[in-house]
Amino acid sequence: MTRRPFGQGPAVSVFTLGLMRALASPLQLQQVVARALAIGINHFETAPAYGPSQTYLGQALAALAVSRHHYLVTSKLLPGLDVGSGLAVVRATLQRVGLDRLDQLAVHGINRPEHLRWALQGPGAEILAACEAEGLVGQVGFSSHGSPELVEQAITSGRFDFCSLHLHLLNPTMMPLARQALAAGMGVMAISPADKGGRLFDPPDLLRQQCTPFDPLELAYRWLLGRGVSTLTVGAARPSDLDWAQRLAWVGDGMPAAVAAAAEGLNQACQQRLQDTFCGQCRCCLPCPEDIDIPTLLRLRNLRLGHGMGAFCEERYGLIGQAGHWLPLVRGDACTRCGDCLPRCPRNLEIPTLLQHTHGLLQGPPRRRLWGW
Ligand code: SF4
Ligand code: SF4
Repeated sequence: MTRRPFGQGPAVSVFTLGLMRALASPLQLQQVVARALAIGINHFETAPAYGPSQTYLGQALAALAVSRHHYLVTSKLLPGLDVGSGLAVVRATLQRVGLDRLDQLAVHGINRPEHLRWALQGPGAEILAACEAEGLVGQVGFSSHGSPELVEQAITSGRFDFCSLHLHLLNPTMMPLARQALAAGMGVMAISPADKGGRLFDPPDLLRQQCTPFDPLELAYRWLLGRGVSTLTVGAARPSDLDWAQRLAWVGDGMPAAVAAAAEGLNQACQQRLQDTFCGQCRCCLPCPEDIDIPTLLRLRNLRLGHGMGAFCEERYGLIGQAGHWLPLVRGDACTRCGDCLPRCPRNLEIPTLLQHTHGLLQGPPRRRLWGW
């Protein structure tokens, strides 16, 4: 499998195995790890919050007798811990996985300004520095579900060697920041391009037609790799979930013309279906006094009407307000029609009406995140 530079550390395979799903038994995770290694994946991503993932990973690596030189491990650390607790979490991770050093440690979810302050000036800064000084971690990064403004602050802080971002074919909002990070020498990992990228392992017929000649998941993977993203996470539950990673194992640099054309065709198809209600995701309408994340809600509307992605959009909409700072807090029915956003929209969208429409389209029972911290 092709490997790409990743910050200051060793090169990583263009696919990373995320270990949050193969948790039914140690054997299940071992089988997934064995397939990943067999197809050339050298990077495993885990977190203390992923249930027994770390214990099972340690058991799998021992059972498979994998040489330490053949794999890299990234773990995560939730912001907000005091110094003693943070160091204890890192040491416990090392013990569970059976390592004396993590290749990468990411601050898990710089979603709010206080999380970044914790990492740069607060106890997190001390924890990260101590981990590096003691040789417990090779390099330090962050993941974020936060705003582009916050992610840019984290990137430009100069503290981090890599970042894990929501980079999706159908949500390219963060792509300019990914390019900025890459240009600064950071590694960039795409979080969940298949699942959070649109449940692309189970695409609706309309999306499948619009992606022709590619499979939707194939197009998403090829597009992200064409944009230079270092590595893409695959949260495999079964060895067969890695089939596309095997097929796309060898990739060059640059965007293939056929991939660029298919991605542009997909965007055009969406705009044609939405006509003058298409939200261009420019974010000019923010801030909203009710704290409605207007672009995110209207992006779900774009996807629902433009690509027929009902199941995905209803799932994501149902999570709003149910997952703390990991997702938007307020649904479309919170709009008071104050009108503040209207003059800021370059497309002159009737935002309150579109939010009401979005709510009617997508409301359903509340959902829970896979990991409910
Ligand atoms: S009209 Fe609605 S969405 Fe727009 S700023 Fe006011 S409350 Fe927010
Ligand atoms: S300003 Fe208009 S086009 Fe831009 S994100 Fe907001 S609603 Fe969408």
